[in-house]
Amino acid sequence: MTATQDLTPNPAIVIIGAGLTGLLAAQALKKHGFQVIIYDSEPHLNSRPRDWTILIHWALPLFSSLLPPSIFANFDRAICNPHLDFDEWAETLPMYNGETGDLMFKSAVPGSRRITRRGLREVLAEGLEIQWGRKVASLDTESNPDKVKVTLEAVGEEGAEEEEEEVWADHVLGTDGASSKVREILFSNQEGGEEKAKVMRSGFMIGTCIVDYQDDGEMVRKVLEKHPVTSLVMSRGAVGGFGVQYTTGTPPSSLQHTIFWTKVWKGSLSTTPDMHRKGPAAVRYLKQSWQGLHPSFQCLIDSTPEDDTHTKAFIDEMGTWIAQPFDNRDGRVTLAGDAGHPMLILRGQGFQHAVTDVHNYVQALLAIRDSSGGADRKEAFAAYDKDMVARGSKAALQALEEAELAMDATSVERMLMVRKGHGRSV
Ligand SMILES: Cc1cc2nc3c(=O)[nH]c(=O)nc-3n(C[C@H](O)[C@H](O)[C@H](O)COP(=O)(O)OP(=O)(O)OC[C@H]3O[C@@H](n4cnc5c(N)ncnc54)[C@H](O)[C@@H]3O)c2cc1C
Repeated sequence: MTATQDLTPNPAIVIIGAGLTGLLAAQALKKHGFQVIIYDSEPHLNSRPRDWTILIHWALPLFSSLLPPSIFANFDRAICNPHLDFDEWAETLPMYNGETGDLMFKSAVPGSRRITRRGLREVLAEGLEIQWGRKVASLDTESNPDKVKVTLEAVGEEGAEEEEEEVWADHVLGTDGASSKVREILFSNQEGGEEKAKVMRSGFMIGTCIVDYQDDGEMVRKVLEKHPVTSLVMSRGAVGGFGVQYTTGTPPSSLQHTIFWTKVWKGSLSTTPDMHRKGPAAVRYLKQSWQGLHPSFQCLIDSTPEDDTHTKAFIDEMGTWIAQPFDNRDGRVTLAGDAGHPMLILRGQGFQHAVTDVHNYVQALLAIRDSSGGADRKEAFAAYDKDMVARGSKAALQALEEAELAMDATSVERMLMVRKGHGRSV
């Protein structure tokens, strides 16, 4: 069965993917009066159990300027430790030597805030039209020279009748993450396009434990002592972090912190296909594989409970893709965020570039709609894509190199983190 919807009045934008990039884009477009609808393959906002923290640093001023004030007013709800008195030290990222416990170097990240993905999605989703359980199947840019027909499949129970939906839009923005289907479609008319569009396994693994230390205030105190937001830690063959994931309770006396610790190391799922990726077995693996640290860090690892109630653990191989030019269908379809430039997490640049994409995307649409005479759609989006590909590819390559350098004590001095801090990658 196929249901067809024509979103004709005003330029209508269909966004594929309700991650942080898609939600931010929708809020920013709505603020300027565009008609926006988001489709996401997940069944609802909080269906994915995996959560993580993201430092918003150089893009925070741009991020706040994109949002309607009534939405940005709720930003604190997403912050990992909203009651902290942020000072120069709290707005610094320290890197410790994991074996000695000594400070190696630190990056100033003035004005930065660390948020959880889940918390920020909740804030950004408010008031938006989001259709859950719908994944993009195809984009037709041939039938009508000025419109895109988006075909969406219902993501239902296996065996259930799949209902298809068709939507006509003026523009489509693919914000469907690292393994983007929109990217795959955009490359499909190039020779070898399927291969070119594929996300690459990076050869770097990431493991995270989100830990409730069962009222053991001593463990929480040890984390906060090193840094009130997040400490980075480097040890032989691994780099990671310890910090605050969630805060509950009211200040000053009854605050409860849930802690996270993350480890990045060289490895691949292709050589360890049977590795447990979540649950108690994943916690056990991460604990056993990160030993030999200074007691101030080691005790946090060793005290991590190995049960699903107190510890949520996730292991994965990080993906990357070096952005390259694509056919944007005369400026009607493009990409933003991880769909355009998935990258390793080192130096925390992924979301900063997503915010930059959203800003540039909105500016391009405003120029087409509002400037006297109206900017040319093809030119406006050729410029958008050129910038995104250049920025995204450079940042993704830098993040890969940064990860390589971090694995070996003799190359640490060459890391951008050491030489240039956490500033803008491009
Ligand atoms: C552990 C970790 C730490 C990080 N730390 C930082 C940091 O400190 N600073 C920083 O700048 N960045 C950081 N990042 C990167 C940052 O999290 C990402 O850049 C950002 O979240 C990307 O969001 P997105 O919306 O582009 O993609 P995603 O979050 O992947 O969202 C994509 C959405 O699209 C949906 N979708 C997928 N396929 C389809 C389909 N076919 N049809 C419909 N919907 C679909 C998915 O369900 C999902 O909701 C970190 C990442 C990780 C993993």
